[in-house]
Amino acid sequence: MGSLALVLLLALAPAAAHRKLLVFLLDGFRFDYLDDKELESLPGFRDIVSMGVKVDYMTPDFPSLSYPNYYTLMTGRHCEVHQMIGNYMWDPTTNLSFDIGVNKDSLLPLWWNGSEPLWVTMMKEKKNVSMYYWPGCEVEILGVRPSYCREYFSVPTDKNFAEAISDALESLRNGSAEMAAVYYERIDVEGHHYGPASPQRRSALREVDKALSTMIQQIKSKGLKDEVNVVLFSDHGMTDISWANKVIELKNYINMSDTIQMKDRGPVVSLWPVPEKHAEIYEKLKAVEHMHVYNIQDIPDRFFYKKGKFVSPLTLVADEGWFIAESREKLPFWENGTGRRDAWQNGWHGYDNELMDMRGFFLAYGPDFRSNFRAPPIRSVDVYNVLCHVAGVRPLPNNGSWSRVECLLRAAAPAPPRAPWPRCALALLLLALLA
Ligand SMILES: [Zn+2]
Repeated sequence: MGSLALVLLLALAPAAAHRKLLVFLLDGFRFDYLDDKELESLPGFRDIVSMGVKVDYMTPDFPSLSYPNYYTLMTGRHCEVHQMIGNYMWDPTTNLSFDIGVNKDSLLPLWWNGSEPLWVTMMKEKKNVSMYYWPGCEVEILGVRPSYCREYFSVPTDKNFAEAISDALESLRNGSAEMAAVYYERIDVEGHHYGPASPQRRSALREVDKALSTMIQQIKSKGLKDEVNVVLFSDHGMTDISWANKVIELKNYINMSDTIQMKDRGPVVSLWPVPEKHAEIYEKLKAVEHMHVYNIQDIPDRFFYKKGKFVSPLTLVADEGWFIAESREKLPFWENGTGRRDAWQNGWHGYDNELMDMRGFFLAYGPDFRSNFRAPPIRSVDVYNVLCHVAGVRPLPNNGSWSRVECLLRAAAPAPPRAPWPRCALALLLLALLA
C-alpha cells in the first residue's frame, strides 16, 4: 500500500518548476551579420556566443517574410498549416484584408486562429507571458491574450528596446511572467532602406549589441543567471535589390483590370485573376523573365505553402534581387526625412527560403543550453520545440525536428515534458484499485 500511495503522490504531483525564458525576435537579422570577424566588435553577442549556442544559420519558412515566420517560430508549423501565409492576405469569402498587421481587420482572429502560438498555450496553462512590441500580442487568439502586451508601433526606438529588456527581466524576477518576449525591428528597417551591408544597418546591430551587454549584466545583478534561459532569433535575412534594373512591372504584361485582387509586391505577389481570364494571365506571366508564376497545385511541395487557405489562384515568385510591382509608380518608396517620398529601398526579403541571403540566425544561452557550442543549421519550424522544452510546456503537434535541436541542450537536460495523460491515467487506475 505504501508504494501504491507513493506512486499516487508522484502521479498527482505538479510538474517540476521550470526556469524562466526570455525570447528575442530581431527582425531581418541575416545569419552572417554575426560572422567571426564581426563578433570582435560586438562584445554583447560575443559573450552570448561564448556562453551559449550558435547555429550556423536558420532557414526560414517560405515565404521568407515576417508574419509567416513570426507564426512559424511560435507554432513550429509551416505556413500552410498555421495559415499565416503572407504579410498581405485577402479572404475572398469575407472580402477582408490582412495588411502587414496595420489595418484594423488584421487584428481579427480569422488570420490568427489557424494555430495556437506558444504564448497562448502558456496562458492556458496558467503561465504568464509578458510581450514587448511583439506583433500580434494585442490580438485575442483562440480567445486568449498574453498577461501583458506592450503594443507594437512603427518603429520602436533603441530606447524602447532597452527599457523593454529591463522590464522583461523584472517581470521574470518578480514572478509576474514565466516567459518574456521582446521584438526589435530596426535592423530590418535599415536593411530595407539602405541595404544589408549599409552603415545604418550595422549601427542598428551595434545598438542591439549594447542593449545585450546591459542585459547580461542585469541578469547577473538580479541573481537570475541560473534561472533564466535567453533565446534570440530572427524571422529571415535580407538581400540587395535594385530599382535601376531589376523591377518587373506587371502592367507591361497583363491588363490589371483582368484581376480582382493583388496582394503584396516584391519577391512574392498573390494574384486573383478574373476567373475567365485566369488561363490567359497565367500564359502571359509564364513568359516573363526573372520570375515564376504558379497555379496553386504547381507550387513546389518544399515551400509547404500551397495548402494554405488564403493562397491565391496565382502566386508570383521573383528571382533573387528582383522586385515585382504593378508599375514603377506603385513602387514602395519611403519618406526619407526630406518630406519627399523619393527614397527607393535597397534591401528586401521574401524570396525562395533556401537562398543563402534569406537565412536567419539563432543563439541561446542559459542554464539549459550548452556553452560555447557551434551547431549545424536548423529551420524556423524547429525553434518552437526548443522554446517549449526550456519553458516546460508540452509541444503541440508541429513540423519541427527534435533531432536537429536536441544537440543545443545540455546533456543533463531533462527529456521533453511528458504528456499529462499518463499521470491522469495512473491516478485513475490507482483510484479504481483502491475503490
Ligand atoms: Zn522586412
